[in-house]
Amino acid sequence: MRVLMVASECYPLVKTGGLADVVGALPGALAEAGTETRVLLPNYPGVAQRAALGEAVAAFDHLFGGPARVLRAQADGAPELLVLDAPHLFDRPGNPYLGPDGLDWPDNHLRFAALARAAATCAAGGPDGWMPDLLHGHDWQAGLAAVYLASALPEPLVRPPVVFTVHNIAFPGLFPAETVPELGLPPSQFTPAGFEYYGQLSFMKAGLVFSDALTTVSPTYARELRTPRFGMGFEGVLEQRQADLIGILNGINEETWNPVADAALSARYSVDDLSGKAADRAALQAELGLDQDPTAFLLCVVSRLTDQKGLDLLADALPTLLGTGGQLALLGTGMPELEAAFQHEAETLPRRVAVRIGYDEALSHRMIAGADAIIVPSRFEPCGLTQMYGLRYGTVPIVARTGGLADSVVDANEAAVHAGVATGIVFDPNDPDGLRAALLRARMLFADRTAWRGLMLAGMRHKVGWARSAQRYRSLYDRLLATRSGRAPGA
Ligand code: ADP
Repeated sequence: MRVLMVASECYPLVKTGGLADVVGALPGALAEAGTETRVLLPNYPGVAQRAALGEAVAAFDHLFGGPARVLRAQADGAPELLVLDAPHLFDRPGNPYLGPDGLDWPDNHLRFAALARAAATCAAGGPDGWMPDLLHGHDWQAGLAAVYLASALPEPLVRPPVVFTVHNIAFPGLFPAETVPELGLPPSQFTPAGFEYYGQLSFMKAGLVFSDALTTVSPTYARELRTPRFGMGFEGVLEQRQADLIGILNGINEETWNPVADAALSARYSVDDLSGKAADRAALQAELGLDQDPTAFLLCVVSRLTDQKGLDLLADALPTLLGTGGQLALLGTGMPELEAAFQHEAETLPRRVAVRIGYDEALSHRMIAGADAIIVPSRFEPCGLTQMYGLRYGTVPIVARTGGLADSVVDANEAAVHAGVATGIVFDPNDPDGLRAALLRARMLFADRTAWRGLMLAGMRHKVGWARSAQRYRSLYDRLLATRSGRAPGA
């Protein structure tokens, strides 16, 4: 079976969040399940520098303002690629969505409509004879693919089915109504039943309405999305399409995130020999200027600093954490007021609180390996990856009971601890009191070395790879293709 994935990010070439990790890792896992995948990605400068570009599989004289081509490409550690080479849209350094002023590029609608249109063209097959059986789009940047595909390939027997995955509904891809004709979209679909979202065009809604099947990145988020609290105005359409919506929990890249072989660490360790973790802990304390105290309860955060991530709650609960002899190591970027609040704490108590503002992949590994616990107090969390890194590194997750956090961590209640299946602390309600109580509960468990070690080991044994989830995607693909007669997979 051949699958064309479409996304705006792909690890290790371009990443602003978990989307990139998923798009980077899922194709490899699908290959093990016998699926051949190509990922279509914009040719940002960072991609062009690292990828070896090959032959053109599609060309456009004029794609939203300039000529463009789709090229085959390969890069170390990345899936098989197609890149949309459209310099007028993508030859811009830095963040894939934001200009130097920190604001969205004003032509983002053109940029990602171009990506979707290129996907629809590639779905018809290229000169190398590679024709996908199925198109799989990720998040709003790929949302228009199903719409363009319907006009590019009108015959249902020729048109591959489209799977659309919601990684985060909070990014709806909204643009003014005037962009509908500019993007060549059918005006008849600019209605609440089509891609209109309260008077604006939503790329996300286009994906939700026009794709054949919908997935999101955890079973709990799939349920939450159908409620006003989490659905962000899309709950109605998701309720209507509930029969077509499934939650498949993300896995993590078990090669990149592997304490047994992690080159970023000063010492490596495994479930059979944890001694290296103590060395990583000491090294982290030294690197960050924290007290070299082997008994301190060292917690970490690796996160975007936004409302979603609930770190303002942590700022409020910090005195509780520090009051029990805890230490905090935080790595992140985002809202200036949150950055300033944590930096202020670090300046006040530099031996107990260390804050690094920025994006640093290697430091994120050292923090997650060196800490005793990782805190993820998100207000909503479609899946979340850092709690799974925590599990794999014996760094006990303390998470809010929402989305993929609820689906990936087993709370250390009495029964679960007794049965040896607990892997972390799952708390609700997610407010300062709830988080304070969770931190105190974690502190008590930490003091019980046997119980804590039980959590660490159960977490490290928990399966967080892609195998099971890739199998679920493959079953979904099979089901969709089985409903198409006259077009055998791979034909
Ligand atoms: P989201 O996609 O909402 O940001 P996820 O938990 O799904 O949240 O994925 C975040 C990814 O980005 C993880 O791989 C995490 O390690 C990484 N990450 C977030 N902030 C930083 C940072 N400041 N430095 C390094 N990696 C980071």
